[in-house]
Amino acid sequence: MKAAPITIVGAGLVGSLLATLLAQRGFEITVFERRPDPRKAGFLGGRSINLALAERGWHGLRLAGLQDRMRPITVMMRGRMIHDIDGRTNLQRYGRDDSEVIWSVNRGTLNTTMLDAAEAAGAVIHFDQRLESVDWKTSTLHLCSEDESRRSHQADIILGSDGAGSALRASMAQVIGLGERFDSLGHSYKELEIPALADIPSSRLPADLREAQARGERFAMEPNALHIWPRGNYMCIALPNSEGSFTVTLFLPNEGEPSLASVSSAADARAFFERDFADTVPLIPDLEKDYLGNPTGLLGTLYLDRWHFEGKALLIGDASHAIVPFHGQGMNSGFEDAVELAELLTASPNDSAAVFAEFERRRKPNADAIAEMALDNYIEMRDRVDDADYLLMRELGHTLAARHPGRWVPRYWMVTFSRIPYAIAYQRGEIQQRILRELIAGKTSLAEINLDGADSRIVEVLGPVPTQES
Ligand code: FAD
Repeated sequence: MKAAPITIVGAGLVGSLLATLLAQRGFEITVFERRPDPRKAGFLGGRSINLALAERGWHGLRLAGLQDRMRPITVMMRGRMIHDIDGRTNLQRYGRDDSEVIWSVNRGTLNTTMLDAAEAAGAVIHFDQRLESVDWKTSTLHLCSEDESRRSHQADIILGSDGAGSALRASMAQVIGLGERFDSLGHSYKELEIPALADIPSSRLPADLREAQARGERFAMEPNALHIWPRGNYMCIALPNSEGSFTVTLFLPNEGEPSLASVSSAADARAFFERDFADTVPLIPDLEKDYLGNPTGLLGTLYLDRWHFEGKALLIGDASHAIVPFHGQGMNSGFEDAVELAELLTASPNDSAAVFAEFERRRKPNADAIAEMALDNYIEMRDRVDDADYLLMRELGHTLAARHPGRWVPRYWMVTFSRIPYAIAYQRGEIQQRILRELIAGKTSLAEINLDGADSRIVEVLGPVPTQES
């Protein structure tokens, strides 16, 4: 029996990968995307210009045959480059060597590459088509374009990858209880730009960067790192772009001091950056314009009790589990969704109800776990990366990993460099964290810690880490 055609709503990062994977497996795929075609109109991203790609994301791209096309346009990030308040920097490596790194990728380039791949595989994508509502009795989507012209489309199976503000989710919620909850973080973000070194007026630059500019160097800071300026309750980060610029993101509380409410004018923004992120100021020529002109992005976590409606509709990616961006895993986890769903549908192409239920059963515990870990990581990044206890715990964690290979594996490693299910990474990470806290209590250096005493406990409570990914 021929598989039923599938309609996808939203051709962002997750929708375009899903369309590619399903079309490559022979499914008849129709996609409706609200925005105009970015390959003609330019990419209207609206948020985060670049993203960190990790192993889970690469796995999806590999399966779609896109790894070789993407790799040359990504920038390797070996670790966190911490900028202290005095402008001193220190690189904290993510892994053991350059095989354990993450990659900065441009959202627009990634999206357009996947749109090309989806079409090449046979998917039909309709742009400028915004889903307004679904008539569930007749399984009809009602769509609207920019010029207000309307169309309808009959679809027995609808997959919603239309992002955190999903219109499909809103339509589903009219006929079933989804148990939707959005926990606002109370912090938001602003993007600013450090241009390529050649594009920064040399009169602004310190002498060493003027010389670097004269030598024709492309980047104003170390390119192979994710830069962090941790400042307690808030922080800036910067990710490199392949042409030499960096996208800087300021994360700040919505209220209080300092906050998006208190830093409200051009003069406030300059004074705030000069006080807290002084080494960035010569590098951001349009600081005031960026700060006042760029939109403020809201942050929070979306939880749903239920992701699907009978065999008719399923939500995936941010539409079902949007998370805060501090582990750099929203897209990566969405790509994992796409891979898992493509595999389940391929195995049972004519039983969407069973596939959707199984997809939710497998993915929801993992989505819940990464949501929690992403929240934890905000506190770690903005507040802990330069604190003495944290650094001792990190050093001890590395030592225990070397003493117990395949058993003690840092949580960051499991999340970022493996495809071990997030839920397992979370559980094992909690156990390891408890042991670390107990071992460093009252200690200031590794030499004071009784490592031999910890060994038997570790073997007792931590089994070997699963090698299989799911
Ligand atoms: P989206 O990317 O939001 O795509 C949804 C698509 O649906 C869009 O194309 C939209 O136009 C379309 N659409 C919306 N409504 C409709 C409608 N009614 N009808 C038709 N189409 C519609 N993740 C990482 O893995 N690494 C990172 O480093 C990272 N950094 C981030 C930094 C920031 C500041 C933010 C905010 C997020 C970050 N993320 C990161 C998360 C990542 O951006 C999301 O998880 C990812 O974009 C989700 O993809 P998606 O396709 O589910 O949703």
